Amino acid sequence: MIGIINNQIDRNTIELLGKANQMAHKIQSEVYLFIVGPKSLKIDDVKDYADATVLLLSEKFEHFSLYPFLINLENVVLKYKPSILLAPATTFGRTIMPALAAKLKTGLTADCTDLDVDENGNLLQTRPAIGGNVMATIITPKHRPQMATVRPKSFSIQPKKRKGIVQLEQIIDVKDRCEFISAEKRESSAQIDQAEVVVSVGKGLRRKENTEIAERLARVVNGGVGATRAVVDAKWFSHDHQVGLSGKTVKPKVYIAAGISGAVQHIAGMQTSEIVIAINKDKYAPIFKVADIGLVADAYSTLEQIVRILEGEENE
Ligand SMILES: Cc1cc2nc3c(=O)[nH]c(=O)nc-3n(C[C@H](O)[C@H](O)[C@H](O)COP(=O)(O)OP(=O)(O)OC[C@H]3O[C@@H](n4cnc5c(N)ncnc54)[C@H](O)[C@@H]3O)c2cc1C
Repeated sequence: MIGIINNQIDRNTIELLGKANQMAHKIQSEVYLFIVGPKSLKIDDVKDYADATVLLLSEKFEHFSLYPFLINLENVVLKYKPSILLAPATTFGRTIMPALAAKLKTGLTADCTDLDVDENGNLLQTRPAIGGNVMATIITPKHRPQMATVRPKSFSIQPKKRKGIVQLEQIIDVKDRCEFISAEKRESSAQIDQAEVVVSVGKGLRRKENTEIAERLARVVNGGVGATRAVVDAKWFSHDHQVGLSGKTVKPKVYIAAGISGAVQHIAGMQTSEIVIAINKDKYAPIFKVADIGLVADAYSTLEQIVRILEGEENE
């Protein structure tokens, strides 16, 4: 069985369910969703993506705290015995999965960007390695479950087509070692995760002031502004904006890479975008290898022309 763990129903859950369905079809397996969360959680939108959704619901799971979540998840994993166990590489997944893997005495491949299964049911866990310079595919042939966290936006959403059974599990009452005092949500200023258009800037914009043109374009198209690590290191934008291996993975309809060389570490975060438009004055820049439309041109003046045309259209 392929199991997916999350503490909420979100796009990441649906992306993972889609991939799990594809793999389950290959190895004739079932797909189970394990949700540990508050009693108010609604699962109607996702249950038909899984053969069964196993619910661990309690007011105690309103806020995340490692120990109670861990003990309850360990209990259901030991009961259902999935051979593959996946979670999104979010704060929740990145915290719970290593602890769970240690409890279950198995391995974990963190931050995968692709998954597959072979005919023996081995999970092929692909992730960037050695500073992003190679894509490594890791297998765990001797231990079960095979556990992996997966970067959000690595997979597209697939149609619902499973049995959609819902099962409620008994909660183990665990004395928490932490006390919840208060929580404050930090809003990201970047808004690139959900944007349909991301205008990303690299050092080819030459000066911080020049990045204002990318912000203007993002405003016109209701998109977000992304950046390379070089740009973030130069303090032109905060880390919230960084796209790539050590930043965010984005999957917009249109990704505009302006003055970006296309280092492997950057490409790791944007290669699943639907349409990539690259603007670079060097016709040999690696970004052109992943671009659907390539413009060998000055980044600033090209963005300026696009903004002028679009703003003109808006004013007509
Ligand atoms: C472990 C590790 C993790 C990393 N993680 C990330 C990450 O998450 N994200 C990331 O982006 N990088 C990451 N990097 C850094 C990455 O290797 C590159 O250094 C970085 O992406 C380069 O950014 P850049 O393209 O803006 O700059 P540069 O490499 O300096 O490229 C600038 C580009 O602009 C072009 N250009 C120059 N002038 C103009 C002009 N007038 N008009 C148009 N084009 C012009 C140049 O031809 C060049 O291609 C990581 C590196 C390591 C080792």
